[in-house]
Amino acid sequence: MTYIIFGVLGIIAVLLIIAVIRTLSIKAPAIGECKTEITEEEIEIAAKKLGDMVRVPTVSKNEDEDLSEFYKFHEVLEELFPNVHKTFEKNVLNGTLLYRWQGTDPSRKPILFMGHQDVVPANDNGWKCPAYSGTVIDGDIYGRGSMDCKSTMYVELQAIEELIEEGFVPPCDIYLEYAINEETGGNGAASAVRYLKEKGVELAIVIDEGGAIVDKPIGGMDRQYAVIGVTEKGYMDLKISAKGKGGHSSTPPRNTPAARLFAFANEIEKKRPFKKQLIPEVYEMFAQMAPSFNFGMRMLLGNIWLFKPLLIALMPKVSPFGEAILSTTCCFTMMKGSDACNVIPKEPYLVANLRTSVHQNCEESLAVLKKYAKKYDLEIEIIQARDASPVSNIHSKEYAYLTDCIKKQFPDIGVAPYVIMGGTDCRHFHALTENALRFCPVRMSNEQNAACHAVNENVTLSALAEGVRFFKVFLKGYDL
Ligand SMILES: [Zn+2]
Repeated sequence: MTYIIFGVLGIIAVLLIIAVIRTLSIKAPAIGECKTEITEEEIEIAAKKLGDMVRVPTVSKNEDEDLSEFYKFHEVLEELFPNVHKTFEKNVLNGTLLYRWQGTDPSRKPILFMGHQDVVPANDNGWKCPAYSGTVIDGDIYGRGSMDCKSTMYVELQAIEELIEEGFVPPCDIYLEYAINEETGGNGAASAVRYLKEKGVELAIVIDEGGAIVDKPIGGMDRQYAVIGVTEKGYMDLKISAKGKGGHSSTPPRNTPAARLFAFANEIEKKRPFKKQLIPEVYEMFAQMAPSFNFGMRMLLGNIWLFKPLLIALMPKVSPFGEAILSTTCCFTMMKGSDACNVIPKEPYLVANLRTSVHQNCEESLAVLKKYAKKYDLEIEIIQARDASPVSNIHSKEYAYLTDCIKKQFPDIGVAPYVIMGGTDCRHFHALTENALRFCPVRMSNEQNAACHAVNENVTLSALAEGVRFFKVFLKGYDL
């Protein structure tokens, strides 16, 4: 018995020594410095052009609705980016913009940069300036869409505008795609994908919004990180209802439908019954982020081969993000009872919004909930559902090229793959490429990140200028 105990302790000691040695070898590269200063002229151009773009309130629309704001926006784009409009072939698919710039070598697979024209609605309540004014305050430009997603459109279009001015011609075709209903999950992007598919287009790489340069995404990190979204989680809305006899609330029976629903919701929220798993891309994310932490965290994240079970157990407890990146999540968002204070509801319901993981799709996540629903005699109906997107290959030469360009242009930051919790139009483009990557080369603070879809959405003008430079470097050096 003593031998066994000593044996086990010995093995643990050896494993820990290996982990410590490995951790000592994980060194963060010195934080580099961005050498060239952003010029006053770059700032002015960004303020003028993004301001004009923000001032057209392109709130999401379906194809059969009034698209006049979008057509106005197209005219503004024509004025702001004349070289692009002279050089590119432009297609308007029910408001969705699809541009093509012909490259010199038709045998190469084209590149597609994307974003979206539409914004979520805003009124002026709580804003520092009117919501669609594009006002500059202390070097930041404010307005609905300034970040999401007109900043992405601006950096892509301005980079190309300048490259055309410089006489640059790309080796492969370059496409640009901007839909009118990304925010509402509309089918603008899907129709662009269909159009390209019919033409037999296969893309080398697609770059969309989604990831960005974020400020220390996990507490304790020593630098900003460029996070590249390589997949996005699935989405499912469920209606969960309970049936009962109803009646007057003065003489209530036990186990009323509402109480069964609450007990169910309570149990799901407490147990969090979905499968927790570290997919290889999240594993890689931690490995890439490990060097930017202190010794303890570096040891944990840099030795996932040893600490995986510990990490999976701890992460959901530390933060909601930690849980969301490991598993399907379920959040109860809406509820309905009876129409009066003194009436027992006959069929109350809850709505649950799930974000399904790559390793537990909608069907499997639903099966988990159904098991619990049975216990409380509840019924579940699917309102809408779509599985997680495919996962882009983080070992491809295109992914490596993107990360190299980021490191070159932003020597002061780290780079890591990432799982997108929300949705972007990019998911449609997995049908045309193995490299659908979500990354906008614009730095954003945590406050700016939180202001997306909220009041005082803004972006820093110098960050836009850096983004423009990034796409110029990306295109000039592209030779795959
Ligand atoms: Zn967006």
